[in-house]
Amino acid sequence: MANAPVQRMSQLMAKTLRDDPADAEVLSHKLLVRAGYVRRTAAGIWSWLPLGKKVLANVERVVREEMDAIGAQEVLLPAILPREPYETTGRWEEYGPELFRLQDRKGGDYLLGPTHEEIFTLLVKDQASSYKDLPVILYQIQSKYRDEARPRAGILRGREFLMKDSYSFDLDDEGLTRSYGLHRQAYQRIFERLGLDYRICAATAGAMGGSKSEEFLAPAEAGEDTFADCPNCDFAANTEAISYEVKPVDGSAVPAAEDIPTPDTPTIETLAASLGVPASATLKNLLVKVDGEIVAVGVPGDREVDLGKVEAHFAPAAVELVTAEDFVGRPDLVRGYVGPQGLEKVRYIADPRVAPGTSWITGANKADTHAKNVVAGRDFEVDAYVDVVVVDEGDPCPKCGTGLRLDRAIEIGHIFQLGRKYADALKLDVLGQQGKPVRVTMGSYGVGVSRAVAALAEQTADDKGLCWPQEIAPADVHVVAAGKALQTELALDVSAKLAAAGVRVLVDDRAGVSPGVKFTDSELIGVPQILVAGRRSAEGIVELKDRRTGEREEVTVDEAIARLT
Ligand code: ATP
Ligand code: MG
Ligand code: MG
Ligand code: MG
Repeated sequence: MANAPVQRMSQLMAKTLRDDPADAEVLSHKLLVRAGYVRRTAAGIWSWLPLGKKVLANVERVVREEMDAIGAQEVLLPAILPREPYETTGRWEEYGPELFRLQDRKGGDYLLGPTHEEIFTLLVKDQASSYKDLPVILYQIQSKYRDEARPRAGILRGREFLMKDSYSFDLDDEGLTRSYGLHRQAYQRIFERLGLDYRICAATAGAMGGSKSEEFLAPAEAGEDTFADCPNCDFAANTEAISYEVKPVDGSAVPAAEDIPTPDTPTIETLAASLGVPASATLKNLLVKVDGEIVAVGVPGDREVDLGKVEAHFAPAAVELVTAEDFVGRPDLVRGYVGPQGLEKVRYIADPRVAPGTSWITGANKADTHAKNVVAGRDFEVDAYVDVVVVDEGDPCPKCGTGLRLDRAIEIGHIFQLGRKYADALKLDVLGQQGKPVRVTMGSYGVGVSRAVAALAEQTADDKGLCWPQEIAPADVHVVAAGKALQTELALDVSAKLAAAGVRVLVDDRAGVSPGVKFTDSELIGVPQILVAGRRSAEGIVELKDRRTGEREEVTVDEAIARLT
């Protein structure tokens, strides 16, 4: 067996800290900083110190092995990218303020890649010419850049972060389904090997576009996603991906879209006019009152249909626009959250007359909207930095109707069937078997490599500190020299022997640091096995301790080495 390294803490470029960093809100942030794994360089921008880099590299290795196992080929594309292809697909604009844009000295526009669909599409366009070149799966493990609005959770949400992104290219839908399935399996193996508890949930495609998509969510308090889980069937979905239709409470069925009588001009503007209020685009998240009760209608992106339903079910005369006063002192009606720009989103609780889990929307408190002059905190509850929840605990499962359970989770991976969105925009064809060009169909797949480190810390840490599974830990054994020269000598000797047998060792050989501090640090750092050279070193007896269970045992040096190798 090859010699494994011995990392001496006396030389380690990292200091452990007694106190949590002042700005840390989540456990992984606190512990990774205190244990000397990472250091903040700027908001959402992190440096990885030796122990952290080892853990990160271990996650990378697992990801790489499982990607290679499905036949994916590793490449490395640039992180700084030209504007043009993103302009062609529309994402230069669509990505909004999250995109880091920059210029070179000649005034040329560039961006720092948030995800690389465009560039991979162009690479394949350049390299593949015939159906014989497909299918192909390409991947990279690379820093990604997103100017996140709230980089608050340490490594969990960086503005620079490490992602494994891969892209599949197939000739037909069947091929895409196969490539997607391969990724799904690879991701299951990756997260199982990492020791992460996770669920596969239906998801929305977001900025990526495309049709089918699933997320791998790791349940954790610190998570910023909420997933709904059905206790009765296999339904599991990010609450972002669940929407309910507006249904009247009298139990009458929602008419099919074609059965809804179309008002003369079925627009928000028409309704606004009939209500005697100025028509404006800000009315698109419309809230109305029916018989004095607030009913939310007008789901964003579905304007006409919803209006049709309103007019079909409620006599227009009974419909009245909600005003700011309706919310004053009514925390039961609204919940919002506050971000750096002030109040950012408001959720309106559905009217009780509407069947549970039916109609709610998010609205905005910008100038001139229906809810202006409402003060967050005074007039309704504010959940600072909490995402808008559109589905409540106990709402009916879309599959079987059972009450859903809701949990917080961290998104650790996301797989998408993109279809031909990018191939169409960038004209990616290959010559098909019949000699005619065939438009390629694509998938894109991401694992948050650096986020997985933090997610693992969240799920495995205990009240003493980090507590890594062996495959991911920065070392297999943490050897502690608890005493003076004799103990240090024994600790270094044992370390060398373990290393010769291929065991990765971190040895605390620091002079002038008390055994108590060393014990606390060993628990904070979280290597799975701890070997202490202490009081009985002269007799050749050491203590073996299991970091997770806390179980300890005194054994001879030879016995300890035998057990750890
Ligand atoms: P989120 O919803 O958390 O913002 P996302 O849906 O925007 O993530 P994707 O575009 O699906 O992210 O990217 C693929 C993966 O990259 C995610 O599943 C996540 O694990 C990781 N990731 C995304 N944004 C970040 C970030 N800011 N910091 C660390 N990891 C991230
Ligand atoms: Mg995001
Ligand atoms: Mg997401
Ligand atoms: Mg995602």
